[in-house]
Amino acid sequence: MEKLRIAIQKSGRLSEDSLSLIRECGIKFANGMRKLKSDAANFPIEFLFLRDDDIPGYVEDGVADIGIVGENVAVEKGKDVEVAKRLGFSKCRLSLAVPKSAEYNSIQDLQGSNIATSYPVILGQFLEEHGVKATIHEISGSVEIAPSIGLAEAVCDIVSSGSTLFMNGLKEVETIFRSEAVLIKGKELSEEKQQSLEKLLFRINAVQRGKNNKYILLNAPEESLDKIISILPGMRSPTVLPLAQKGWNSVHSVIKEDEFWEVIDQLREAGAEGILVVPIEKMIS
Ligand code: ATP
Ligand code: ZN
Repeated sequence: MEKLRIAIQKSGRLSEDSLSLIRECGIKFANGMRKLKSDAANFPIEFLFLRDDDIPGYVEDGVADIGIVGENVAVEKGKDVEVAKRLGFSKCRLSLAVPKSAEYNSIQDLQGSNIATSYPVILGQFLEEHGVKATIHEISGSVEIAPSIGLAEAVCDIVSSGSTLFMNGLKEVETIFRSEAVLIKGKELSEEKQQSLEKLLFRINAVQRGKNNKYILLNAPEESLDKIISILPGMRSPTVLPLAQKGWNSVHSVIKEDEFWEVIDQLREAGAEGILVVPIEKMIS
């Protein structure tokens, strides 16, 4: 069977989460990140370990069929690839920053300035949309030091917590792009590869849904059962099982991770006891 080729960052911020996701999809492989290529034992997939910057190009050319990159890189490279799935990890933003001491009121303050970045395409589009003419200096790394060495008055760089900017005497003034890891695919996949991709996406969806939900079990006194059931959103309706002790039921349901604490509080108020919350490994819809 023809193997689906997936490009993964060789070593960097995407590598570990990319490989964990593949593992959570039940795909077994030798941890051969030191190698360029690796095979899976139980799925028709082959791994290529590359620099993230090269992945969109390889996917466009068909050297790899799919790949995992930051959306920032996918957009910056402007290759002919599609986002098949947003993956929810490696969340970060691309922001403009200026020295802490600089006065900054709006993007117009950057008219005629020099801006250092590794993302000239995304930055260029943003400046054009805002009618700002500035000189973009493309550098491939350590962008945050550009103002202190006199290369630029501003930088446009990846930020997650902001601590790198802060340590370099900079302040974040505009967010221009929000990014997360994405699974990209090339335009033409053979039927066989397309089928493997769909199988992979089905598994990724199940893993993601599992992560976004929790399984909840609780004991409900008879008199507040209806109230408790009305609080639980659930996939369909909750499972209700009588307990050995008369007048009590055990209620099972699924709740969303982000509604979790609010729902728990409401359940306790309604008289629920012995609440257990259990992680869900996979959730098939
Ligand atoms: P390579 O050697 O493969 O070229 P790199 O140095 O360009 O790696 P990394 O720093 O490993 O890239 O970042 C890879 C991607 O992870 C970025 O393109 C971005 O999408 C995301 N990312 C970068 N910094 C952070 C961060 N601080 N927090 C979360 N995600 C980040
Ligand atoms: Zn890179």
